[in-house]
Amino acid sequence: MLANLPAVPDLHNNGLPSSDTNASLPISSVVNLDRGDTVLLESYWRKMSDECTVVIKGWEFLSYASDLRSVCWFMTPELRHAIKRLHALVGNAETHDKHIVIGNGSTQLFQASLFALSSSSSSSLSPADIPMNVVAAAPYYSGYPVETDIVRSSLYRWSGDALKYDKNEAYIEIVTSPNNPDGSIRRPMVNNKCGGEGKLIHDLAYYWPHYTPITHKANHDLMLFTFSKCTGHSGSRIGWAIVKDIEIAKKMTTFIVMNSIGVSKESQTRAAKIMKVVCDSYENFRFGSKESVELFFEYSRRLLKERWEKLREVIKQSDDFILPKFQRAYCNFTNESSETYPAFAWLMCEKDQDCTSYLDKEMKVLARSGNRFGCDPRYARINMLTRGDDFDEFLKRLSDIKDLSCQM
Ligand code: PMP
Repeated sequence: MLANLPAVPDLHNNGLPSSDTNASLPISSVVNLDRGDTVLLESYWRKMSDECTVVIKGWEFLSYASDLRSVCWFMTPELRHAIKRLHALVGNAETHDKHIVIGNGSTQLFQASLFALSSSSSSSLSPADIPMNVVAAAPYYSGYPVETDIVRSSLYRWSGDALKYDKNEAYIEIVTSPNNPDGSIRRPMVNNKCGGEGKLIHDLAYYWPHYTPITHKANHDLMLFTFSKCTGHSGSRIGWAIVKDIEIAKKMTTFIVMNSIGVSKESQTRAAKIMKVVCDSYENFRFGSKESVELFFEYSRRLLKERWEKLREVIKQSDDFILPKFQRAYCNFTNESSETYPAFAWLMCEKDQDCTSYLDKEMKVLARSGNRFGCDPRYARINMLTRGDDFDEFLKRLSDIKDLSCQM
């Protein structure tokens, strides 16, 4: 029966629970670091449990509609306000004079963007019978190819690595920055000399201060963000797009209406509440309140930093793996120079041509292979936002491997 379940792009085992609730894992059990789940941040939200509780009465939210004056008429004014306030607090994106469209995760908004951009194209380079080429520089997020091609649209098709794109045809380039899987900071990569006419989608899922220094206020035509990676609430399925052109925003809204007639108001209410709690706590802090709980981005950054330092320490002792290095940069949000701590570790294996099978064979650790990201299988992606037990067990198994190879 398992084979009949739908493939879930960032969930390796089709969404079934992994062994991650087991406090001390026997060496025979598999540690699943393939999935992109975000449970690391659960400890923070447990501390904030009361502040974040939302009560919804039986009579509330019967209507599909929320605010008929807004382009995205199913978005609640509270969520719209909370999204704008959060970006104003962090300084990571310009929302002034832009339209906000929400979706069931940024996964749905990605597909809405492809629909809107490809169906609005009227140039000679994109005649109606030729689908627009969708590209991203490798290594790219493994969800993009499958999400692009799932319905075999006649409007757009996956065309692979942006660095190799050489067609004289219209294209859509996805710029993911910081990038999933390797954490790099990116700009458009298609070589425009080949004459193709390009449109851009900026996927800024990880442009938050726990992962990377906030160096500028992003101000692109179409930017995607997600509640999943911002606060860790992947299960609420809330994403938002910040869109310059009202016609594109309208088309994206149409796509979401055709797909799911909007987005759950229960989820919107919860997302708005959690964003409000984050913003209020920073505001209170600035006004001198001595909050007993650490501020959200500081807390999350500290946890990620600790994990990265532990991982780098173990990898330093090993001859088998290499991790990418990141440059420090000044963060306008924290007002200090800081490092990058990506949500994923992009491991390169020196020992084996196939990093994933090496991890699986030697340590029973599941990772996602480089070839899923349009790249060499020598690379594998490890989720850094996983549950603590799984992460500690992964480090232990990595150290054991290192000790074994020293004895030989
Ligand atoms: N974009 C990127 C770069 C991602 O890593 C992910 C999730 N792994 C998504 C989009 C999808 O996020 P959501 O949960 O909002 O659908």
